[in-house]
Amino acid sequence: MQPTDRVFVAGHRGMVGSAIVRRLENAGFSDVVVAGRDVADLTDHVAVDRLLAEMQPNVVVLAAAKVGGILANDSYPADFIRDNLQIQTNVIDGAWRHGAKKLLFLGSSCIYPREADQPIHEDSLLTGPLEPTNQWYAIAKIAGIKMCQAYRRQYGFDAICVQPTNVYGPGDNYDLASSHVVAALIRKFHEAKINGDADVTVWGTGSPRREFIHVDDLANACTFLLDGYSGEDNVNIGTGQEVTIAEFAAIVSQVVGFEGGIVYDTSKPDGTPRKLIDSSRLAGLGWAAGIGLEDGLGQAYQWFLDNVAGKA
Ligand code: GDP
Repeated sequence: MQPTDRVFVAGHRGMVGSAIVRRLENAGFSDVVVAGRDVADLTDHVAVDRLLAEMQPNVVVLAAAKVGGILANDSYPADFIRDNLQIQTNVIDGAWRHGAKKLLFLGSSCIYPREADQPIHEDSLLTGPLEPTNQWYAIAKIAGIKMCQAYRRQYGFDAICVQPTNVYGPGDNYDLASSHVVAALIRKFHEAKINGDADVTVWGTGSPRREFIHVDDLANACTFLLDGYSGEDNVNIGTGQEVTIAEFAAIVSQVVGFEGGIVYDTSKPDGTPRKLIDSSRLAGLGWAAGIGLEDGLGQAYQWFLDNVAGKA
């Protein structure tokens, strides 16, 4: 990838897409192109084909997806599988059809089997049953990886696939009904602090383990791979550090400055018990995450204060 390349970032309004746009612009890319939903609905095959015919990008970053936390995934299975299959099929096929030389497809660590050995290696893909709560989203993402591999084999299209671990940072979704745990807990602890509440309710038992990566680290890893990686093997992007949800809640409480207690609502799902990915393939290529969890959460909390707190 060269700074003169025209790079289309699909999904630039999302947390990951916007971080990738920032990263490319900071790295001197002068022809980063985007298209809002008003310009092209990415679930619409005809609209995407027209968009890419006009745009003629050299490189495509596919960060557009219908995403959501555990409750949203469990509640809207049809939307998650349909929208994601449509978006990725349209963009991967359109990118190849209109002459892009490279594509990066963003997957998710939930594509791996629920009981996969930890840390989860890329090769455990399709070796066992998925976590039921987000299987619809996961199946769509697995289809996207297979589509990239198939286009590489049949057409020689240089499409690469990455699986980030749980992502957080500026631009996150703070709607409690659809957010992931990081945004949810930042919001809950902040509001409890402001309201002087005695405690905050955290879903599940507190025992599941998760690994979190700051979105700026993820964007950095994506541009690193676009520059230097080409291959059929998917690449995990993680930090190698995991925490239990209970430990994580305690860190968020401290970052936010909430002094009350924590209670657990075990009527809400825990989801997959542990989700630490093996990032040794990426480490072997020479990349490591740079933002620690407490620093990253401090930045995320500041973004929440500046952009979400107190706004309707
Ligand atoms: P997952 O990693 O796909 O399971 O997605 P989430 O980020 O939504 O949830 C991660 C873990 O955090 C699960 O065990 C949730 O039950 C737990 N959790 C605790 N409190 C919350 C909350 O307020 N919102 C969400 N989304 N998850 C929570």
